[in-house]
Amino acid sequence: MSEALDIPSIVSTLKTILPAQEQIPLHEPEFNAHANKYVNDCINSGWVSSVGSYVTRFEQQLAEFTGTKHAIATSNGTSALHICLLLSQVNPGDEVLLPDLTFIATANAVRYCHAIPHFVDVDVLNLGVDSIKLKHYLHTIGRYENGCLINKHTGNKISALIVMHSFGHPADMHSLLDCCDEFGLKLIEDAAESLGSYYQQQHTGNFARLSALSFNGNKIITTGGGGAILTNNDDLADKARHLTTTAKIPNTIASEHDQLGYNYRLPNLNAALGVAQLEQLAQKLQQKRQLAQYYYEHFATVTGVSIFKESVHCKSNYWLNLLLLEQPSVNNRDNILRQTNEAGIMTRPAWGLMHRQKMHKNCPRMADLENAKALFSSIICLPSSPQLMAEHQ
Ligand SMILES: *Cc1c(COP(=O)(O)O)cnc(C)c1O
Repeated sequence: MSEALDIPSIVSTLKTILPAQEQIPLHEPEFNAHANKYVNDCINSGWVSSVGSYVTRFEQQLAEFTGTKHAIATSNGTSALHICLLLSQVNPGDEVLLPDLTFIATANAVRYCHAIPHFVDVDVLNLGVDSIKLKHYLHTIGRYENGCLINKHTGNKISALIVMHSFGHPADMHSLLDCCDEFGLKLIEDAAESLGSYYQQQHTGNFARLSALSFNGNKIITTGGGGAILTNNDDLADKARHLTTTAKIPNTIASEHDQLGYNYRLPNLNAALGVAQLEQLAQKLQQKRQLAQYYYEHFATVTGVSIFKESVHCKSNYWLNLLLLEQPSVNNRDNILRQTNEAGIMTRPAWGLMHRQKMHKNCPRMADLENAKALFSSIICLPSSPQLMAEHQ
């Protein structure tokens, strides 16, 4: 039998680990002195918008860090995902499989293509799409027509799978790639939360033909708002650049456009911040691992809860540390959230599950989303800014 959950001991454990500040945010950005320098440089040069040397520099450094051939910087992570889907030939009316446990942006990008999000369950061991359950499900609901996978119940084509690396923890890419091969699905990685996370020593975002990163204010590094498309394919990289810059025919002074394009390029000002933030990434990753280790050690003796740990063969960036409530304790989730926030320690539940959002009520989904539901009731996101570790050093 599990003992009664002791909420005061959770709050006091957090206080032991975290610095004695009045308010501890969930994830706070931190800028080095170069951030001011590079941004000022943009202002003084007049190159503030979507053409400029910082954009190119940021893209090259991102490609180098992630080990990807090309990075194309975008206005945010959602626009990056939108372009990934368009370039994966996701057509209006197609269904796109995605995890029920994700941030709303993953599903929004599908809707922007006039495609239909189709929610699937996640694996409790890695928080990503559950590959075994997905294979079984697709065998049950799928049939083939002219080599395409069709949802028997809706008659729609199922064209792609978006995998998301939740809170920085890589999904089970080996099995998921296998599943995409078997069913002829295009794979897209939503790596918005996983810059600095590796699956079997390969950086996330290298498994799909197209992947998306985000540099929103709460991510591991930020450009204010921003994102990037990663690809190892030269042709897709050219197309991504073209689509994100209004599909203007390049290298002419005329303003002629050869298809419907988007104004999705990252401004130079934001890229300048990005270049400064990349200088800090290695240190941030190291501090985050150390913070995760502290959480893990200190909560080991607290009953009814545990700290989520990276899987073997994976290296997580520990974007957000997760406190998991064990079974009867889940009833206390909201009390823990309230008491920690009242104590100035910002904690949050996981994002609301996709199938529960009002605008998704008619979307197809697995009948059984048991793991996503269980994780949603059990997850508490803990303060995870890398600079929290500076206090300990
Ligand atoms: C942050 C995030 C995005 C992209 O968000 P933007 O705010 O558009 O940069 C996409 N997917 C997930 C899972 C995210 O966490």
